[in-house]
Amino acid sequence: MTSADPIHTLADLDTWTFPGTALAVIGHPIKHSISPPMHNAALARMAERDPRFKNWRYFRFDIAPEDLPAALKKFHEHGFKGLNLTVPHKVIACDHIAGIDARVRPIGAVNTLMNTAAGWQGYNTDGFGLAAASHETLNIPLAGSPIVLLGAGGAARGAAVECLQRDCASLWIANRTRANLDTLLAQLAPLAGPIPLHGFDPSLPPADLPSGALVINATSAGLKPDDPLPVDLAALPRPRGVYDMIYNPPETRLLAQARALGLPAANGLSMLVHQGARALEIWSGAAVPVEAMHAALKTALPAA
Ligand code: NDP
Repeated sequence: MTSADPIHTLADLDTWTFPGTALAVIGHPIKHSISPPMHNAALARMAERDPRFKNWRYFRFDIAPEDLPAALKKFHEHGFKGLNLTVPHKVIACDHIAGIDARVRPIGAVNTLMNTAAGWQGYNTDGFGLAAASHETLNIPLAGSPIVLLGAGGAARGAAVECLQRDCASLWIANRTRANLDTLLAQLAPLAGPIPLHGFDPSLPPADLPSGALVINATSAGLKPDDPLPVDLAALPRPRGVYDMIYNPPETRLLAQARALGLPAANGLSMLVHQGARALEIWSGAAVPVEAMHAALKTALPAA
């Protein structure tokens, strides 16, 4: 992170004088976010071919959850073009915005807001990011693939909805805490239609799991070096590939096991890039230089 990316606060909005088009990511904490260098690199490249983007800048703000409603109002009044939301705002923001994209409703969480005359319009680009990343890094589309999804938190819910909306072949979800898994399965059941949807205990993979599945890790197991494996890949019928949403550290124990088993494997960096690129497309209505965002992240990550 560079000194060009200071952490702003709610109080800064009272004296906000930036004359250009402002975008921002808001979270609590926010110091880990590497979205500003990623988006500002894209905007610099976009400005080279379209002067409209010369005065666009992407900022970061630390906003506590109790301050979210007031902050959203102020961001709107100051004419911020768009916002990204990260932990803990993705779910609570849904109650404080004017509208929500129809495809997002089943997820119940937004990560992208667009400024409209009526107020903030909410989107969720995480699922798009996952689908694009899986295709780009593993050459595996969500459509038509059997999916083994690990986790039942916010990221897993977004991934599950995307897999079902894209007509995956089947969806098997494993989670450490059974009650959280059952809640998620109940929420997903109306969306699944004819797509087989099952839950299982990650320590006891069922014998009828499909082979050739895409395994997606949407748990936070792997963020710390001594975390357990979210599932033992050797206990599953041979998967087609493994996508771990975690990107820092770049190689989790799960990815190391996948590579040791000779399985195609990729970390969550590409998902971060593609969800960000989709958000910038929504705000700008222009083509977004994905490769510039990827390069900026690779530089920013070691310092994060
Ligand atoms: P949540 O806190 O909502 O959910 C956490 C999930 O991880 C739960 O299913 C929880 O299971 C499980 N879990 C936590 N610790 C362990 C453990 N030690 N062993 C097994 N399971 C565990 O988090 P999110 O869903 O928001 O995020 C999940 C991950 O996805 C994070 O690592 C996040 O960084 C990543 N992510 C990456 C993105 C990207 O762009 N690459 C975008 C969004 C998220 P339980 O129910 O038992 O508690």
